[in-house]
Amino acid sequence: MNYNADEKGYYGEFGGAFIPEMLYPNVEELRANYLKIMYEDSFQEEFNQLLKDYVGRPSPLYFAKRLSEKHGCKIYLKREDLNHTGAHKINNTIGQILMAQKLGKTRIIAETGAGQHGVATATVCALMGLECIVYMGEIDIARQAPNVARMKMLGAEVRPAKSGSRTLKDATNEAIRDWINNPVDTHYIIGSAIGPHPYPDMVTRFQSVISEEIKWQLKEKEGRENPDYVVACIGGGSNAAGTYYHFLHEPEVGIIAVEAAGKGVNSGESAATSALGKVGIIHGCKTMLMQTPDGQITEPYSISAGLDYPGVGPMHSHLYKTGRAEFYSATDDEAMAAGLELTQLEGIIPAIETGHAFAIFAHKKFKKDDVVVISLSGRGDKDLNTYIDYFKLA
Ligand SMILES: *Cc1c(COP(=O)(O)O)cnc(C)c1O
Repeated sequence: MNYNADEKGYYGEFGGAFIPEMLYPNVEELRANYLKIMYEDSFQEEFNQLLKDYVGRPSPLYFAKRLSEKHGCKIYLKREDLNHTGAHKINNTIGQILMAQKLGKTRIIAETGAGQHGVATATVCALMGLECIVYMGEIDIARQAPNVARMKMLGAEVRPAKSGSRTLKDATNEAIRDWINNPVDTHYIIGSAIGPHPYPDMVTRFQSVISEEIKWQLKEKEGRENPDYVVACIGGGSNAAGTYYHFLHEPEVGIIAVEAAGKGVNSGESAATSALGKVGIIHGCKTMLMQTPDGQITEPYSISAGLDYPGVGPMHSHLYKTGRAEFYSATDDEAMAAGLELTQLEGIIPAIETGHAFAIFAHKKFKKDDVVVISLSGRGDKDLNTYIDYFKLA
């Protein structure tokens, strides 16, 4: 079984590029060039240098002693929370900004929901001195003021999406419209392992530095490269794809995905895509997505903005369908409790997205000798207000 994208961008039956005719030249230019550019020596050199000196890689692989004692297995944390800008997203935006430059693009567009991907994009545009336009739903602009301020301070223009539900989906539509109208000078930086081919594969490859590092770091600590399990939370699925990548074809490594169940899988307020989704097309690819019987995309819900997405990347649909990965979902309450537990046992306040990955211990019992590596995808500073309200800390 192959778990990577084939030449047309398919993972089994999922993936592909379902795009309007007018977008074809842009996507085709990227598809025809991305692998060649990505694996040029000069690209790799520049990418790795920036990951080291700007992002702060390699991120540590930390043995969590007290958490391990609590849950009766050996738990290692892959510290993406220590990256510049506080999460794994910067790995991808660094890769894509270099790709854009090699393609001769001078103008960058992006979509953002909570603003995390917008900030990571505005950051690399400031770094490279490129024009940056971030589309964001009007509702999200109102509720994510600090990230809007960060993007503006970084020199980006934040354009409100005023149609539909005025959230991420509408921001994505605006970004696609912009790209159609600016085919020559503009690159569209997508923030997760989603979108038309080659985006899911390209984003996965940029994020695969996570599992590349886990291999040698675990070898140093445990004398073996392969853990028994890798665990990650899944929104669109980029931190998960990067964490799994070098283990996909190592059958002794168990792959675990944790989605957001919101207020409960059957509550009507959830983002548990694998449990609730059916095959459909979203943002240019065929994948599992939450939809009504007549095919309208359902509004997702999660307490964590980064997991509040109605689909998953096509790689994850394939991992689910083939049974290669185990899928779980964690409710808001479980994720918040797991985030608090990590904070109090290890002194690390995680992003609420990341709290979902740690909720795995409420669902699955590991063996004493199991080595479990968890992707600590981001830090919790951005979520402090949600923590304050939830735990009545103020
Ligand atoms: C954006 C985000 C996620 C979800 O995105 P993926 O593409 O599924 O990784 C998870 N954790 C953090 C900290 C994020 O910022």
